[in-house]
Amino acid sequence: MNEADTDRMSALLVERGMCSADRVEDAQVVIINGCSVREKAVHKALSHLGTLQVLKRKGGPILGMGGCVGQLDQKELFRKAPYLDFVFGPDAIDQLPEILHRVEHGERHLLYTDFDASQKYSVETKVFLPQAQAYVNIMKGCDKYCSYCIVPYTRGREKSRTIEEVVGEVARYVSLGVREVTLLGQNVNSFGKGNPNLSQRAPRDLHNCIGKVGPREGDENFPQLLYALDQDPRCQDLKRIRFTSSHPLDFSEELIDCYSSVSKLAFHLHLPVQSGSDKVLQKMGRHHRIDHYFLQMHRLKSLCPGIGLSTDIIVGFPEETEEDFEKTLNLLRDLRFDQVYAFAYSPRPGTRAFQKEDDVPLEVKKKRLALLLKLQEDISSENNARMIGKTVEVLVEGEAKRQHMLQGETSERVWVGKTSCNRTVHFVSGNPWTGCWAQVRLVGASAFSLQGEVLL
Ligand code: SAH
Ligand code: SF4
Repeated sequence: MNEADTDRMSALLVERGMCSADRVEDAQVVIINGCSVREKAVHKALSHLGTLQVLKRKGGPILGMGGCVGQLDQKELFRKAPYLDFVFGPDAIDQLPEILHRVEHGERHLLYTDFDASQKYSVETKVFLPQAQAYVNIMKGCDKYCSYCIVPYTRGREKSRTIEEVVGEVARYVSLGVREVTLLGQNVNSFGKGNPNLSQRAPRDLHNCIGKVGPREGDENFPQLLYALDQDPRCQDLKRIRFTSSHPLDFSEELIDCYSSVSKLAFHLHLPVQSGSDKVLQKMGRHHRIDHYFLQMHRLKSLCPGIGLSTDIIVGFPEETEEDFEKTLNLLRDLRFDQVYAFAYSPRPGTRAFQKEDDVPLEVKKKRLALLLKLQEDISSENNARMIGKTVEVLVEGEAKRQHMLQGETSERVWVGKTSCNRTVHFVSGNPWTGCWAQVRLVGASAFSLQGEVLL
């Protein structure tokens, strides 16, 4: 989501006639899009801001801090960095042109951190065309209030766009060459809450093994959006729909069924679980149990064997014992995710968990994180090794950062892209592949990517 927000900021500046500078020293405007989900990310944003002070002394660029760091620290940032020109939150991104206009006319220390007060959420996606892939925000905010998480405080309450608006916009981008969309939100599967279903779409009740969940009856909901995108004739050339992120609490049976009935839905699910211990989940305020999560995953795996799965884990939450941690490792061994994004617990001021003692020592957190990452590396390697010999369809993102597969002097390049299951694939070719679909026969595998030969 932060990447999509950054693209949006760039697009707004480009619309103002600006272009990106190759070196920060040449820039007239520098904006940091700071993340505050963990303390380390906040430190990174602030230390980056610190390094810009020297430039500012030499009459350097207009400086702004945005994102969740801007939303949280607000005026305090001007005290920490008086050379900063403006601070803004995620809800004020679209006001960037106005903010810059004011700063260019001599105003300083501008603060744009009010939440958008309207009940409705309507926005226009910005895509740098030509591009085959687009991020599309479908809802914003979070009402879940997991006890460790700062997001509900930085991004406000849940609001969704209407199905009509999203489908119309995707259709427009499909006509301009987009072939894969990633639907974005903190909890996309609670999409539609509060938006009455006015267009007589087939009602879809939302149930899951936890109970009846999601938007109320008569509201729009996420499976309806998926069906609408899949069936709209204007979106015929759209090949893949992805979405992120979801919460197990809203991961309904109807959404699981979409994996067999929505033909464009990518064969991948990112469903953060956070811990394998019910005790820890309860303290995290996640409102679901591990046996529910198992049921959801088994139902999904039996419906679509071979689906790519990924999750998020937090280690070292307050009062997490060795036994709790072992349950998390067992969950990984049982479900054999393709990717796990794991983090050491970071207390965030203002959250409920912040009031608890951060009692798992840093050394223990680090040890658990390393153990978990090693286990997952082995599992990912085994999962990927099983792919060797198969031919997969890859949407090519562009040239790989590391040109590691090249041997000797050559004009060929290493290209990188993703399969429907969200696996990363590298291959070598002398032709340009950015934004194209490639059939690739897989010949090698590591924990993090697959290597293949492109079939012409
Ligand atoms: N809405 C998304 C997550 C957004 S934050 C979801 O629920 O999936 C992304 C991830 O950061 C979370 O899944 C969690 O694993 C991690 N995270 C959030 N707060 C954290 C904290 N205080 N310490 C460590 N990790 C955290
Ligand atoms: Fe944070 Fe939980 Fe909301 Fe995800 S669902 S953004 S982890 S509060």
